[in-house]
Amino acid sequence: SETWSKAMSILKEFEEQCATPIEKLRLVDDAMTAEMHAGLASEGGSKLKMLNSYVDNLPTGDEHGLFYALDLGGTNFRVLRVQLGGRDGRVAKQEFTEVSIPPELMTATSSELFDFIAKELARFIATEGQGFFLPPGSQRELGFTFSFPVKQLSIASGTKALVNDTIGTLAGGKYFNNDVAAAVILGTGTNAAYVERAHGLLPKSGKMVINTEWGNFQSSHLPVTEYDQALDQDSLNVGEQIFEKIISGMYLGDILRRVLCKMAEEAGFFGDIVPPKLKTRFILRTPEMSAMHHDTSLDLSVVASKLKDIFGISDTSLETRRVVVELCNIVATRAASLSAAGILGILKKMGKDTLKEGEKQRTVVAVDGGLFEHYTKFRSCLKSTLNELLGDEVAHTVVIEHANDGSGIGAALLAASHSQYH
Ligand code: ADP
Ligand code: MG
Repeated sequence: SETWSKAMSILKEFEEQCATPIEKLRLVDDAMTAEMHAGLASEGGSKLKMLNSYVDNLPTGDEHGLFYALDLGGTNFRVLRVQLGGRDGRVAKQEFTEVSIPPELMTATSSELFDFIAKELARFIATEGQGFFLPPGSQRELGFTFSFPVKQLSIASGTKALVNDTIGTLAGGKYFNNDVAAAVILGTGTNAAYVERAHGLLPKSGKMVINTEWGNFQSSHLPVTEYDQALDQDSLNVGEQIFEKIISGMYLGDILRRVLCKMAEEAGFFGDIVPPKLKTRFILRTPEMSAMHHDTSLDLSVVASKLKDIFGISDTSLETRRVVVELCNIVATRAASLSAAGILGILKKMGKDTLKEGEKQRTVVAVDGGLFEHYTKFRSCLKSTLNELLGDEVAHTVVIEHANDGSGIGAALLAASHSQYH
């Protein structure tokens, strides 16, 4: 029919605009590397802040004692405690709780948010039981990771080690595996950190850790569609975090919703009336999109029930459901491929994208975040695209590793390595 072919032309156009062929990804990773150089060279020299995080003493493995950590993300926060047993004992015991942040507190004043967090923290501390030991005369020490950029002049103030969650993931990853050289967050938001050889004023180790704030990356080579532009225009931070708005969990579902909405409005894709809920921003969340994308049932019954539950669209044909899955695939593939290109940009900056004679060849990138952890097709596309970009030989030397509990453990470890008691 005519409406169907109009819908298909919207789909095709979107697919073409989102395409990430390998030649395009190479332009993107080159641009990422160039922006990293520019950001390091001068403050404000790039969209990438390239913040020096002053965590000179990354955990060594010798850390001992009881430490707490708070990991504040975009949608939830985790509180955890670890009993560190030193070189041999490592993490002797660990407990955590995860609390989702009530939406009204996200827009409240920061003191209301911090009051809420303090209460949850106190509640968790009250449950401290067997297996955790606080030496007499000492106070509990807390590491704090968060997912927003803060310009830091030093890591510690009082008994709190304050670090970005990417840095926490890097520190946590390195504690378990010394080959970890970079960390990437792919959750509600996205960011990356890596170990840079220090120039100029040397910290003790001769290395510094850089928080790239890569979510703000922008390049003319990024495949940006009208839907991305509209999403950006409707956002609270217009013109900022463009990379993040294309690849992170906060946005993928809403990009898909926008395409579906256009198909409904301009091609009657869901019948004569545009289902009103299609116009509600962020009504379709990325976990829902992921569930539809992974629907393996013959009649795509998961897609059918999500469309019904989320948008109130019932009685969809199998063809319609197939188109929805195809759209999920386009949005997720673009995001995963661009994430891979970003990672290659970092590997290039570290000189780890080629084989070098006489150098130990193993680079581990620790990745944390709900998008990477739970969106299987996203994760496998990211890995296969990175392998393709690196080529077989180098690909064998680069490992993408899920950092379990990455940033939280990292925060506790940084509290430990900056402890005032030893
Ligand atoms: P935060 O970003 O708050 O630190 P997480 O790292 O746990 O928290 O990431 C949560 C984000 O991960 C969610 O906002 C969502 O975008 C994404 N996510 C969670 N579960 C899934 C899922 N099953 N499929 C796809 N994305 C998911
Ligand atoms: Mg997080």
